[in-house]
Amino acid sequence: QLQEIIAQALSTGKMVRGEVDLPRRKRLLDVSAVVLSLESGPGCLAVAYDVTDLRRLEKMRREFVSNVSHELKTPLTSIQAYADTLLNGGLEDDDSSRMFVERIVEQSERLSLLIQDLLRLAKIESEPEAYRLEPCDAGAIAATAVQDHQAIADKRQVQLELIPAEGPLTVIADADGLRTILNNLVINALSYTPSGGRVTLGVRRSGVRVLFEVQDTGVGIAKEHQSRVFERFYRVNKSRARSVGGTGLGLAIVRHLVEVMQGEITLESELGTGSTFRVWIPTPPPTGP
Ligand code: ADP
Repeated sequence: QLQEIIAQALSTGKMVRGEVDLPRRKRLLDVSAVVLSLESGPGCLAVAYDVTDLRRLEKMRREFVSNVSHELKTPLTSIQAYADTLLNGGLEDDDSSRMFVERIVEQSERLSLLIQDLLRLAKIESEPEAYRLEPCDAGAIAATAVQDHQAIADKRQVQLELIPAEGPLTVIADADGLRTILNNLVINALSYTPSGGRVTLGVRRSGVRVLFEVQDTGVGIAKEHQSRVFERFYRVNKSRARSVGGTGLGLAIVRHLVEVMQGEITLESELGTGSTFRVWIPTPPPTGP
């Protein structure tokens, strides 16, 4: 490919640009070649840029746009179908018209959740400075995350428990962001744990950081999916995930927020046994004597 670019530049005398693929090294070069008239005869100058990362990002962006369109289209198509059925005679039948309207409301809620999550992701990516990192009470935020989901846990017959820290713990975080992280992890744990199971949220000091640990006795995640569940729209089981009401963006949001707060997240899971998501968030630096 490089020889072709150079030969073309030499034969036409014009600048020639092309891509050179290096499959074994998995790199892609963007090469520009121009002819140089040297005393010793015609020469050629070629400049190569490594565009591998750029192309990968472009591909990711294209895939993201196509995923978003698909995800938005699914509920919208249902809404249209239910509304059409209502218009074409469904309105006369009281029972079915109520059911159709309920479906419309359900699907609109899905659309709105999806848009809310997309906006949240966009905000984290485009304005990380909008997040104010300041001292927050880690124990109080974790306790609220558990309280707020107690009713859902009861309904699903899953035991939800807080394992509090011994004393007060302060983290340097954006309080809203930290709430979103814990809420998303707790909701997932409840969604993917069958009735009779148990979900715990533990908070404790871990060196110079605080560790939040969300553990469930649910369906678990197989090894090959573990690193991918943090990608946008990646779901292990699409139909199951949709039926539990997820948008497929929850963990992508969690990962980004953890990064904004200079924290770390890990996943340990075994299929059929359960999952543990661990999030470490920095604590304030010690003050002088
Ligand atoms: P969703 O909105 O679909 O839950 P997430 O980004 O929050 O999207 O999660 C991505 C996928 O990871 C889920 O669809 C599910 O397959 C898997 N997952 C997340 N949390 C758990 C969990 N606690 N147990 C089992 N699977 C999980």
